[in-house]
Amino acid sequence: MNEPTKSARHPRPGLTHDNRFFWDGVAQRKLLIQRCATCRRLQHPPAPMCPSCHGFEMDFVEASGQGVIHSFVVVHHPPVPPFAYPNVIVLVELAEGTRLVSRLVGVDPDAVAIGTAVQVDFETVEGDLALHFFRPAGAQ
Ligand SMILES: [Zn+2]
Repeated sequence: MNEPTKSARHPRPGLTHDNRFFWDGVAQRKLLIQRCATCRRLQHPPAPMCPSCHGFEMDFVEASGQGVIHSFVVVHHPPVPPFAYPNVIVLVELAEGTRLVSRLVGVDPDAVAIGTAVQVDFETVEGDLALHFFRPAGAQ
């Protein structure tokens, strides 16, 4: 496994009016999911309008962070600093009923499987930049 290149700065999330609450939540070690204030539908990534009822009023809920792997890809190439490879990227079906893309750790990249129960965790990767990632449920 290649270790991350320490000299490369980590890319930052592009903050918008719609997604700032999500990244503020990550900084506080919370997984916040946007919810339509009218029909209560959850959606991620955050967007200005509900695709179901076309409402514009949004709030959010704190997700449990539990879910299952809906899909995944194991990235081997090209290696882009500062990431470590192989880099396991998962689409997680959250228990609350929406999906989000994240990184998976704590699993042999050759053993990643759809349907595996996972749990969110958080890390500070650089200065004030916190990111979410997932690990198998029950693992430390
Ligand atoms: Zn709605």
